Amino acid sequence: MLPHTQNTYWHEFSEISRYNVQLNYFEKLWAAWYAFMGNDVLATGIMSFLMHETVYFGRSLPWMLVDRIPALNKYKIQSHKVPSAKEQWDCAKLVLLSHFTVELPQIWLFHPMAQYFGLATSVPFPSILTMAYQIAIFFVLEDTWHYWMHRALHWGPLYKNIHKIHHQYSAPFGLAAEYASPIEVMILGLGTIFAPILWCALTKNLHILTMYIWIVLRLCQAIDAHSGYDFPYSLHQFLPFWAGADHHDTHHEKFIGNYSSSFRWWDYALDTESGAEAAKRRREKKAARAKAA
Ligand SMILES: [Zn+2]
Ligand SMILES: [Zn+2]
Repeated sequence: MLPHTQNTYWHEFSEISRYNVQLNYFEKLWAAWYAFMGNDVLATGIMSFLMHETVYFGRSLPWMLVDRIPALNKYKIQSHKVPSAKEQWDCAKLVLLSHFTVELPQIWLFHPMAQYFGLATSVPFPSILTMAYQIAIFFVLEDTWHYWMHRALHWGPLYKNIHKIHHQYSAPFGLAAEYASPIEVMILGLGTIFAPILWCALTKNLHILTMYIWIVLRLCQAIDAHSGYDFPYSLHQFLPFWAGADHHDTHHEKFIGNYSSSFRWWDYALDTESGAEAAKRRREKKAARAKAA
């Protein structure tokens, strides 16, 4: 009889290390996980779901602490609306429910779908440059999907029946990023999932590690956009086309305009920017047109 250490994760790890000296440490850890599970769909499903939960709550928690530090209140966009502990707890409960009922199956289905289109799960990993340009493309595609779907969700019947839940908090906070109707989570989540699947189908060049990093960055983007805080060193101060919290907070406050997720260009080009500054620009443009006529 074989000693049962034969079936452990670390046994796989040492076997892989012995025969694949060219791999780096993370590649060995990765290959050992897939070898240990012996089922790629299960291996990806478990890893993605755990990663999603860790990042979602791991990234939201610091924002809850920030809410409790009075010195940071001057950076809060709607400074008089600090969420209570009860509000945050109620929010967390709905978010967890939708993670288990809607996102889990979506996450689970991703692997077989992407595999069908040629997704790679093997080692070595793609280069950082390859991952970076692909993720940049996913950000642009997702933002486009998000703009149009989110704008559609503000159409009367869809707003009343689906999107209203997400707007329960007129001053958002990190945890509220995925506080939404399960239907909305599914519709908007498609942008995050289908951008890489489309890319994979067209180019046959996508590694699942790129997908993981993309999901982590997209989650952080969504949580930070809902954080309610705008710091002097927030990303959009350096990248003017990056949306950030400032952009999305106004959407929650005014209930109209600023429909994009990551970038400002769709709202700018289609004149759906929200807030006092945008309204002022619109008035000025109108006045200039009237003058010219
Ligand atoms: Zn909205
Ligand atoms: Zn929102």
